Amino acid sequence: MKRRDFFKNSSLFAFGSLASQFHSDIWMNSKNNFQTKKAKNIIFMVSDGMSTGTLNMADRLLQISNGKGSHWLDLYREGKINRALMDTASASSLVTDSAAGSSSWGGGKRVPNGSLNVSANGEKHLPILQKFKSSGKKVGCVTTVPITHATPAGFSVMQKDRGDQEAIALKYLDLEFDVMMGGGNDYFSSSKRADGKDVYASFKQKDFTIFRNRKDLLASKSDQKILGVFADGGLPYALDRSNDKELEESTPTLAEMSKHAIKHLSKNNDEGFVLQIEAGKVDWAAHANDAGGLLYDQIAFDEAIKEVIDFAEKDRETLVIITTDHGNANPGLIKSHDVDKNFSYLQNFTHTNDWLLQQIKMKANSFSSIREMIANANGDKTITDEEAKILLNFYNKNNGGLYNTGNLPYGPLAEMQKKYTSIGWISMDHSGDYVELAAFGPGSDELKPFVKNYELHQFMLQSAEVEDNF
Ligand SMILES: [Zn+2]
Repeated sequence: MKRRDFFKNSSLFAFGSLASQFHSDIWMNSKNNFQTKKAKNIIFMVSDGMSTGTLNMADRLLQISNGKGSHWLDLYREGKINRALMDTASASSLVTDSAAGSSSWGGGKRVPNGSLNVSANGEKHLPILQKFKSSGKKVGCVTTVPITHATPAGFSVMQKDRGDQEAIALKYLDLEFDVMMGGGNDYFSSSKRADGKDVYASFKQKDFTIFRNRKDLLASKSDQKILGVFADGGLPYALDRSNDKELEESTPTLAEMSKHAIKHLSKNNDEGFVLQIEAGKVDWAAHANDAGGLLYDQIAFDEAIKEVIDFAEKDRETLVIITTDHGNANPGLIKSHDVDKNFSYLQNFTHTNDWLLQQIKMKANSFSSIREMIANANGDKTITDEEAKILLNFYNKNNGGLYNTGNLPYGPLAEMQKKYTSIGWISMDHSGDYVELAAFGPGSDELKPFVKNYELHQFMLQSAEVEDNF
């Protein structure tokens, strides 16, 4: 089947050709005249667990703070991209997890939640980065969560259970992809792994350059393959990082990692490259109903979009896909007399709820100290004594120890913050909503306005004119 037939029915395409004769300027502008070219490179960008409300609010927050809005929505406002809604279901549920979500794109088949490119009957689906690597392209992944986490893994490996990240690290060693960057020291370091293996040493033996901090990454001109691991688990939230000098110096931003990856992959490369870029902690923040964590990590993702589009606009041979794997917690602004003013307070937040609740756990000993700590992190806004009592009781009842960071009163704090942020949430978990998808560059004109997640697998192969004979 020809590429053109696959994604657009012929009558629509005929209308497009006709329209172009009469409105060539508008048509060419909006489509960037990419129709006839194949995509040499593909950059697939995922803001993990990004509900539409997250995209909306990040754009509004940027409008308030810099008067411009987000790069993602600028692509819409300027008519530069093709846009679709995407059905994100998995083989086992209308509501996917990130493993099945990434597998649908990565392997071209829906699999049950929790699985990486392995169907319920055990059938395995070869991931797209392995296909593109076999076709001669360079390939890689960049993320703000462990590089062994579900979204990069869904493009890379086949494994029944996403949970075994130590095994995934070893699979990456076999695959020898050109760039792998994110967090996840827990799965590479001999002192952290259950089997005591020094996976870094094995990567070094294969002539990889290993980066463990931002400075070395930014200074590097190495042409060797790259493994970059900048945290034990996920990288710090963008909001916490931007208010902590030490974190700023030690950990790169998603935009910095993306820029470096693109520079590295595009250098002296006639065959092209395929790169996945993930803002993984947008999902984590949504699970925690953490407004500051959510919106500033979405904004950090948006800064990576700028790097990618700047490259793609110059290069003109790069297909860029920007989307999410599923909604999460469906946050949104709620009507009230003070909603505009309340939302603008987000500009003055200095730390995430995740950071704040851990600080409170370690240091707070009275209602007033809790209220003060929240005021410091939330631009002078804070909760009542009555509410502080609820938080303190939570800690007293759930004393799981200093490092039990999972057991924090995220939900109660988000509920209390509503009165000064006007942000509401429907839950603390993934949702089944159809999600936004934007495509820019050669091949993007073939995008249908409504797609199912697994269809993107063929869409990418066809845009790059790589035969799927694996
Ligand atoms: Zn999630």
